[in-house]
Amino acid sequence: MRLITTIEEMREVVHDLKKSGKTIGFVPTMGYLHAGHATLIDRARTENDVVVVSIFVNPLQFGPQEDYASYPRDLERDSAICQEHGVDFVFAPSSNVMYPKGTVDVFVDVRRLDQNLCGRFRPGHFRGVLTVVMKLFNIVQPDRAYFGMKDIQQLRIIEEMVNDLNWPVQIVAVPTVREDSGLAMSSRNTYLSEEERKTATAIYQSLQMARQLIEAGERDASAICDKCIEFLERVGLRVQYFQVVDYDSLQLLRTVSGKVIVGVAAFVGKARLIDNVVLEVS
Ligand code: AMP
Repeated sequence: MRLITTIEEMREVVHDLKKSGKTIGFVPTMGYLHAGHATLIDRARTENDVVVVSIFVNPLQFGPQEDYASYPRDLERDSAICQEHGVDFVFAPSSNVMYPKGTVDVFVDVRRLDQNLCGRFRPGHFRGVLTVVMKLFNIVQPDRAYFGMKDIQQLRIIEEMVNDLNWPVQIVAVPTVREDSGLAMSSRNTYLSEEERKTATAIYQSLQMARQLIEAGERDASAICDKCIEFLERVGLRVQYFQVVDYDSLQLLRTVSGKVIVGVAAFVGKARLIDNVVLEVS
């Protein structure tokens, strides 16, 4: 495995790989890797000749009040995990390498698809995500790129980006990896105390509750959301949103039908955690 920190070196490697006809599987991450990331890597390993993992905490996607400075970082540990999982190249550029001007003057932006779920509460977040993903795609030129369904809005918007802008990359969606308790794995789980980690399991329980209500015939989205929010607040979580949106348009639904996303964001202590389930409702 080789660690690469400059765009020039990454480009040279990619040039040689393309020349020899190798397929490139790419897993973009912000590091502090866990079993969720490892699942994306393993999937990429089985489907491509070469696997590239990027590790970059992207300042452009954090709001001024968010946790950019305190986001957990440990390149040595991440490199060891990548090595164990058969990664060929780790691309870990500094912020200066990615943003030599400190920022960019040209962005990739999104409309409509960022109106609900996280986009509603994190203005500019998806613009930051799309811009860095486009930069990384331009540098790594992957045949396939792997994204987790844990960040379902991100996945959906990236699918639309490559479709709308005709980028020749296949986006592969990987199901959410959970702890035994149901808690979705996240680098931000390191912010949680033992006690908070237990409380956080209510997030997945609330999604299961929504699923059960729908299975029992409830189709009124606000009735479902109200019940789930009440449950979360009762166990001590501060809910930012609990929404049911259409899978394709990401627009809020009054009546639950078709392929839907039930998504939640809630604060447990100072940690903001998100989770979702995708349901097909007849
Ligand atoms: P991050 O480092 O949090 O930006 O995540 C990098 C990639 O890993 C994204 O595509 C995430 O959706 C994915 N990911 C993070 N956590 C999980 C998880 N628990 N299960 C599946 N994929 C995940």
